Amino acid sequence: MLIFKGDALLAGDGEGSFDWPDRPSEALRCSLDFPESWQDLTAWCEVGEDFEARGAEWLDLRAIWHRFGEEAFARAGAAYQYMNWRRSMRFCSFCATPLEAREEDRGLSCPGCGRAFYAPLHPAIIVAVERDGRLLLAHNRRMPEKRYSVLAGFVEPGESLEQTVVREVREEVGIEIGGIRYFGSQSWPFPSSLMLGFTAHWSSGEAIPDGLELDEAGWFAPDALPNVPPPLSISRRLIDDFVRRQGCKN
Ligand SMILES: [Zn+2]
Repeated sequence: MLIFKGDALLAGDGEGSFDWPDRPSEALRCSLDFPESWQDLTAWCEVGEDFEARGAEWLDLRAIWHRFGEEAFARAGAAYQYMNWRRSMRFCSFCATPLEAREEDRGLSCPGCGRAFYAPLHPAIIVAVERDGRLLLAHNRRMPEKRYSVLAGFVEPGESLEQTVVREVREEVGIEIGGIRYFGSQSWPFPSSLMLGFTAHWSSGEAIPDGLELDEAGWFAPDALPNVPPPLSISRRLIDDFVRRQGCKN
């Protein structure tokens, strides 16, 4: 049983688990109250501000990764997304009737107008662009100072993933790319993204940051990388993959 308070998850007493043995009697919402179709997910409960558990602490999801590993992060992330969606999606957006959990699947139904709703996912691309053995990295204004990463952006209606990759790179640094290849994906529950990773190579243009999202961008050799994201995200996996492949060539 995973216990959430706001966006934080109750972690155990450091013995390698964040599963809580009991259902708190004061839970605001609990997946155990939903139909069977919801029960193959990790059970979760949401508790109020005044809930306190002795010998335990509240961790955000990133801290769950660092302390309990990738599998635990994925499990907690899935439960968090359903918990957070159920918390924020209480009424039908067409007729304002309170929604009910569906028995057929993990959706919500409106008893008023019959519409069904499903947990949102927001696909975003992330791409490692190479030029002559160097990797394009940029600094986003929202990132910590001196932290550089590969480019990323949300998919827009009507786009294929390849089109999003081309558009994002063009918008953010003004270059053209080719050789787009799928790399891998990662669920990113902050709050409901699906990151789709790609590699590509430079075709033309000089990389100039857009000045809006990005304030610096440049090409980096594998042995002279700046400060990059910690080993948690697909962005770091893309960067590590680049370094590994360059090492094989030398
Ligand atoms: Zn309705």
